[in-house]
Amino acid sequence: MPKRFSPDEYAAGVLSGNRVLLSRAITLMESTLPSDQTLAHEVMEKMLPHAGKSVRVGITGVPGVGKSTFIEAFGNYLLEEHGKNLAVLAIDPTSQRTGGSILGDKTRMETLSANPKAYIRPSPAGKTLGGVARSTRESILLCEAAGFDVIFVETVGVGQSETAVHEMVDFFLLLMLAGAGDELQGIKKGIMEMADAIAITKADGPNLPAATSAQAEYKGALHLFPLGASKWSPRVTVCSAFEKSGLAPIWDSVMEYVQLTQGNGYFQQRRQEQNLHWLRHSIRQQLEERFYQHPAVKAQWEDVSGQVTQGQKSPFAAAAELFRLLP
Ligand code: GDP
Repeated sequence: MPKRFSPDEYAAGVLSGNRVLLSRAITLMESTLPSDQTLAHEVMEKMLPHAGKSVRVGITGVPGVGKSTFIEAFGNYLLEEHGKNLAVLAIDPTSQRTGGSILGDKTRMETLSANPKAYIRPSPAGKTLGGVARSTRESILLCEAAGFDVIFVETVGVGQSETAVHEMVDFFLLLMLAGAGDELQGIKKGIMEMADAIAITKADGPNLPAATSAQAEYKGALHLFPLGASKWSPRVTVCSAFEKSGLAPIWDSVMEYVQLTQGNGYFQQRRQEQNLHWLRHSIRQQLEERFYQHPAVKAQWEDVSGQVTQGQKSPFAAAAELFRLLP
């Protein structure tokens, strides 16, 4: 059994930038054991005053678009050219379904993971979206308390987790392939609408003309979306992780976005709204857990759900009946 640390030990370790304690604290946040959750809440309380000072960037794109190669190149660029400390939280939706893992691949982000100024943490997606949401959001705050000033949250742009990630980052970067077509890439319009920037990847060698024309196409498409409350117009750029080109304009976009939205108040307002969003989310989740865990509900569940499946009872009536069982 690994040693259990006290909340103060976790807090001191994370604040001093101790990687082992940071990793252990993140594992604690991911735990679903009630005793761990109590400890996790105590640790979070201590961390909150030290969190919030990073720029949080969501990065998404379908498998094969070049996310890990891009993050390796872009991350190294930020460390070397801008002296940043970078944490990468990678949400892996495949780990649960297949037992395997796209993101767990050890060869991903080799130089970045060897750099003492970077921290890379793959996270299993967990059983529920709520699981991803809670532990990833808390991991962001822990990494901030540990002194990381840029946080990437990486997701594979095919699932539901993008919406959750969008609700926990300041800037959302969508990576796209040229010439594959949106449909083929499985990118839903909703995800494009969330993007603060789109970067067309692999813009090198023979791919360059296609990347440039995709850039024009997406620029046109994004112009059709009305300006949001941030007043930011999304950028479309091309980049190559192989040639390390087009990285500066992407970071410039992030910085310009931060400057604009900090200036017009949207940045803080959005973070406050995100806090409220997660409060509501947590309440829904805890209510649901309490409901399903209640002994009376458990005892009636099979009967009532069976009647609903057979069409003998309406789902609404059944829900009301089950709710009446609660104190
Ligand atoms: P991920 O699944 O989105 O993480 O994608 P990877 O980073 O694993 O890259 C997928 C494939 O694209 C790999 O075969 C990479 O070698 C290739 N690739 C990644 N970045 C570039 C690039 O900048 N240029 C070119 N030509 N190929 C790239």
